[in-house]
Amino acid sequence: MSAHERERLLARDAAHVWHPYTQHGLETDFLPVAGAKDATLTLTDGRTVVDGISSWWACLHGHSHPRMVAAIAEQLGTLDHVLFGGATHEPAVRLAEELVAIAPQGLNRVFYSDNGSTAIEVALKMVVQSWLYRGEPARRVFVALEGGYHGDTFGAMAVSDPDPFFLPFADMFFEVRRVPPDAAALRAAFDELGGRAAGFICEPLVQAAGGMVMQAPDFLREVRSACDDAGVPWIADEVMTGFGRTGAMFACDRANVSPDYLCLAKGLTGGNFPLSVTLAREETFEAFKSDDRGRAFFHGHTFTANPVGCAAGLASLAICRDEHTPLRLEAIGARIEARLATHFGDRATERKLRRTGGIVAFDMLTDESGYLASAAPRLRALAVEHGVLLRPLGNVLYAMPPACTSTTECDLIVEALIALDAFAPA
Ligand code: PMP
Repeated sequence: MSAHERERLLARDAAHVWHPYTQHGLETDFLPVAGAKDATLTLTDGRTVVDGISSWWACLHGHSHPRMVAAIAEQLGTLDHVLFGGATHEPAVRLAEELVAIAPQGLNRVFYSDNGSTAIEVALKMVVQSWLYRGEPARRVFVALEGGYHGDTFGAMAVSDPDPFFLPFADMFFEVRRVPPDAAALRAAFDELGGRAAGFICEPLVQAAGGMVMQAPDFLREVRSACDDAGVPWIADEVMTGFGRTGAMFACDRANVSPDYLCLAKGLTGGNFPLSVTLAREETFEAFKSDDRGRAFFHGHTFTANPVGCAAGLASLAICRDEHTPLRLEAIGARIEARLATHFGDRATERKLRRTGGIVAFDMLTDESGYLASAAPRLRALAVEHGVLLRPLGNVLYAMPPACTSTTECDLIVEALIALDAFAPA
């Protein structure tokens, strides 16, 4: 694409497009991307950048993996789409079977939707509705973690920490108790709520949008026992952590625990297609079963269980098995962490250098949020100048590249992270 065509593309974008999580009053310089292959994005001017954040944590195996492309193309030519109310198809049934086979124990039912936020909505609604059928209609208050993020639809926003993204809507949310990631605080919230507690939701092991805040697997075991003792269900939001990101297939596997609901999206299709699932226990499904039509779970999106998305999911799971995706991600994370540890030396602890599987993060010294908000576009541009796509979260710099990232590309990511860190004033 010539420089002129590139300028035209940006001008047309500026005329009609509204971007997500973007302050158009500050950000005008969008990255014009022409193509992607493996861990690399190619810009319209021919420059390449390594996708250091897996395109919003979705791209799992690398861009345009040949097996993904083939599976999607084949499915598109066989059965592109059909409604899922009153109909079924092989890709949806098989993907459900395969997910149940690898999911933490006891999660036997798969409900399809099409993004992470809706997977959360489904779980929240299932919890609330199933309490009605258990004769406890007062159980309507969720407990969630401080700093949690679960998506941008209303229910998902309500259980997320409203600060900073969702403050304009805060007075419209249903009641939620927010606790620090601490078992005693969780138990205290359950005790205080008593028969009003509906359930607990968290991002297991890594709170992503909240700044890659990491917890030890022990906390998940404590969550399981606190929920069991209080008799309330636990929703695990593995929208980001699922499919190997933490070095295990699911974050819950690292603690050897099973939640009552498991929400998956992003890497479910290798990051190639919008599809998500909410896994639930058989007893939850049974609670909705009745000869009364009014007791059905009235939730369904146009593209529920889209066959192409399901075929992408099956191909991605096959690649996870054949290419040992969780192990690869672990090795990539370990390399990036080791290089950063060498760079920081005895400052690594002060910088909160941390890693879970393929996710590596550290804090920039400045946490002056005003400065960082205005510097964010500059920091992203600087990363591109260093040949890497990065997107700092406030004062947190992190990397989460796809499983095909080479050692040379890992080192490039490290160099870019160090350059961004040097740019921020201490
Ligand atoms: N949960 C978590 C943990 C997430 O990180 C995200 C998105 N970043 C979501 C839910 C929402 O997913 P989506 O953007 O696909 O709606």
